[in-house]
Amino acid sequence: MITINKTDPKDGYNLQRENATFMILCRNEDVYDLLETVQYLHDRYNHQYHYDFTFLNDEPFTKDFIYLLSSYIPKGNLNFGSIPKSHWSYPSFIDQQRAMQNRENSGDMPYGDSESYRHMCRFFAGFFYKHPFIRQYQYYWRIEPGIKFYCDVKYDVFKFMRENSKKYSFVLSLFEYRDTLPSLWDYVKDYMKSQDISNQDAQLIDLVQNNNQFESYNLCHFWSNFEIADLAMFDNDRYNDFFNFLDEKGGFFYERWGDAPIHSIAVSLFLSKSDLHWFDDIGYYHSPYLQCPQDSATYLQNRCTCNPDEDFSYSDLSCTSHFLDVISSDNTGSSH
Ligand code: GDP
Ligand code: MN
Repeated sequence: MITINKTDPKDGYNLQRENATFMILCRNEDVYDLLETVQYLHDRYNHQYHYDFTFLNDEPFTKDFIYLLSSYIPKGNLNFGSIPKSHWSYPSFIDQQRAMQNRENSGDMPYGDSESYRHMCRFFAGFFYKHPFIRQYQYYWRIEPGIKFYCDVKYDVFKFMRENSKKYSFVLSLFEYRDTLPSLWDYVKDYMKSQDISNQDAQLIDLVQNNNQFESYNLCHFWSNFEIADLAMFDNDRYNDFFNFLDEKGGFFYERWGDAPIHSIAVSLFLSKSDLHWFDDIGYYHSPYLQCPQDSATYLQNRCTCNPDEDFSYSDLSCTSHFLDVISSDNTGSSH
């Protein structure tokens, strides 16, 4: 665990920054994909603000990794952190035999047979916000090796989040594979019952419930490889109780629950409409999907280089139009 301090206290950017970091979970061998992504990020955004970077790994970062990233990134603090074993291993209540059987039977869904993927999803669902490096900050922006930014982002998105009291933001959204989470929704219903949360309490429940019926999960989720969020939305007793309740059901291992559906369901239970933001002006690519701004003035002003016709956000496989309907509807449920 090391921090390399490249922040110049006398430099103007340092006085205006929000308390925020980029957060990147990756492996040592991702270093070149990551350098390319950091280049996009720097050129399109961070050259103006020099926000800190926090790199996390379930294994120690190599000297080469640290050397390459810290040579490339000119300013800001760079944190290179390890994830504690207890946040990346089987809890005692998990039957590892049963977990293995599930992996053997899940070869036909994405990452169905992967053990590390399950640890990764569980880490993002319940532990990233407890990491001491992350806890220093109020906001994070999740970045992955290999993603691309196709437009300039000419304003401080963290400042935008704070000034507009936003807690969670997204770019792309889509439908989850139902086979990855056959029992999740029933447990969510159990949780709501146990906490006396009614559908009316949850102002954003229509984001994720089917046909206002609450019978089933509509599989919609914010694609969590991109998130800009207030850590306080996760780092609190209520969210931790929610995570622990689900974690004890074992679905991160007996099924293949993703962190994205868990985050999205938490948003729908705990946040209100005004807490949520869609960055429709950010040009973003994570294989295989692209968000490319549709508004031509935005496209030109921000010097976008993506093909607007290849935009995924308004396609049938995206949940974004549904999300926009829910956010703009005037149901009167209150958040709590
Ligand atoms: P996908 O986006 O669902 O295809 O999943 P990814 O393979 O991109 O993984 C999501 C994030 O977790 C990325 O930032 C990866 O770099 C990271 N990641 C996934 N698995 C591991 C792992 O076993 N170790 C580490 N250190 N990072 C991982
Ligand atoms: Mn990814």
